[in-house]
Amino acid sequence: MARKMLIDGELNKSNEEEAHYDFDLFVIGAGSGGVRAARFSAQYGAKVGICELPFHPISSEELGGVGGTCVIRGCVPKKILVYGASFGPELEDARKYGWELNEKINFNWKNLLHKKTEEIIRLNGIYKRLLSNAGVKLYEGEGKVVGPNEVEVTQLDGTKLCYSAKHILIATGSRSHRLDIPGQELAITSDEALSLDELPKHAVILGGGYIAVEFASIWRGMGAMVDLCFRKELPLRGFDDEMRAVVARNLEGRGINMHPGTTLTKLVKTAEGIKVLTDHGEEIVADVVLFATGRLPNTKRLNLEAVGVELDKTGAIKVDEYSCTNIPSIWAVGDVTNRVNLTPVALMEGTCFSKTVFGQQHSKPDYNCVPCAVFCIPPLSVVGLSEEQAREQAEGDILIFTSTFNPMKNTISGRQEKTIMKLVVDAETDKVLGASMCGPDAPEIIQGIAIALKCGATKAQFDSTVGIHPSAAEEFVTMRTVTRRIPKAKTNL
Ligand code: NDP
Repeated sequence: MARKMLIDGELNKSNEEEAHYDFDLFVIGAGSGGVRAARFSAQYGAKVGICELPFHPISSEELGGVGGTCVIRGCVPKKILVYGASFGPELEDARKYGWELNEKINFNWKNLLHKKTEEIIRLNGIYKRLLSNAGVKLYEGEGKVVGPNEVEVTQLDGTKLCYSAKHILIATGSRSHRLDIPGQELAITSDEALSLDELPKHAVILGGGYIAVEFASIWRGMGAMVDLCFRKELPLRGFDDEMRAVVARNLEGRGINMHPGTTLTKLVKTAEGIKVLTDHGEEIVADVVLFATGRLPNTKRLNLEAVGVELDKTGAIKVDEYSCTNIPSIWAVGDVTNRVNLTPVALMEGTCFSKTVFGQQHSKPDYNCVPCAVFCIPPLSVVGLSEEQAREQAEGDILIFTSTFNPMKNTISGRQEKTIMKLVVDAETDKVLGASMCGPDAPEIIQGIAIALKCGATKAQFDSTVGIHPSAAEEFVTMRTVTRRIPKAKTNL
């Protein structure tokens, strides 16, 4: 997009004109991207305001809260539940390690829920303090854009505040999306799933993405019966096919009923629970039905069309490589732009925005080698190209190295669950193009591998790195034999 950005220090407005604005920057949305951009901009000397709806720790009706989705109803509470769910199977494994757990061990969902809520309240407070310590003025209310340099904040009591700002940053994230089928009101989304009054006895989950497989693992780990329905043959479309198959096998191995090639057609309330009908004519009765069918950008109530901010067909804000919209004074970062929808990416985009606009350093977010993890149990983590992406994109032959092994811990516990690792290597340059792992601690291991890939490491450099023994991670530096060689794609000939 070739358009003029409004960057401080570049467009030399006179001091009188500068003084005309209430703020140098007003941010709508205090999630990961918004808080990062607000704080960093303030640290560069900008006068910054930010608005966000107040956080209600119990109700899932109000979707606000400083900290945003990640902290309030996403990554953080989810990870707490993943930890909680992991103890059940771990305790089973512990018996083989000599632990005599004679008494029946009970899981108390309400206890964990209470602890989780306490932690979220604590983090919400920390985020507020981060803002105030940076000198950012927080307004608790819903923001909308009323002009290229004007925002309106509606507080809970209905009072409307209007402010002018030289720059407006939209960082309103995304929200859960509900499938439009009869009885859809009986289903919940991840917002409610994180705060259910009771642990489900039997849950049906629709979707095969991050949220679906993570909640399947959480609820199954806590002892619930789980049916996972997804429309492809394997869950986690977009990830390496071999890894997807391993995830599917592991979920099944842990007792989740897998329904590939399946979607839901109707939900009916019955005396026994929610009757779930699938497109294969199956009927499952469950007490909880979770829709995990993706999220949509939060642009609806921002009044963007009125000021001419361009949206794409999904409703996401269109931005250039510096996160600037088609209106030079309006910018957007994070899920609301639907680029790479991950918290650390929103942080990167927020940082680059601040540097570009207030730090006198033009900075573009770099989407190369963004690692990510799916916190199913055991987790999957990847960085760089999958085997399928390498087949499509690579200029020459590709070498695939894989290692599948029984983690040492399982030798004693007897758990039948293999760890798999994969490296995708350019045959000509020896550069490692992608790495993936499904197994315990995969995200912790892949984070380090991501640094190597970002530095352009070659397979020879992996091989010359001394391993840590005994660990699973050492397999990444001891994969000597090529599993298969994939010739240059025909389209590249
Ligand atoms: P995803 O985009 O990951 O997955 C959506 C799933 O819903 C896919 O399996 C998709 O199937 C399926 N689906 C979509 N529409 C329909 C439909 N009409 N009928 C049946 N199935 C449908 O979304 P999630 O909701 O799981 O997560 C949202 C986003 O949140 C993720 O993209 C990710 O960015 C972020 N997130 C990240 C996490 C992490 O980093 N660990 C954790 C949780 C969320 P198909 O593949 O066939 O299209």
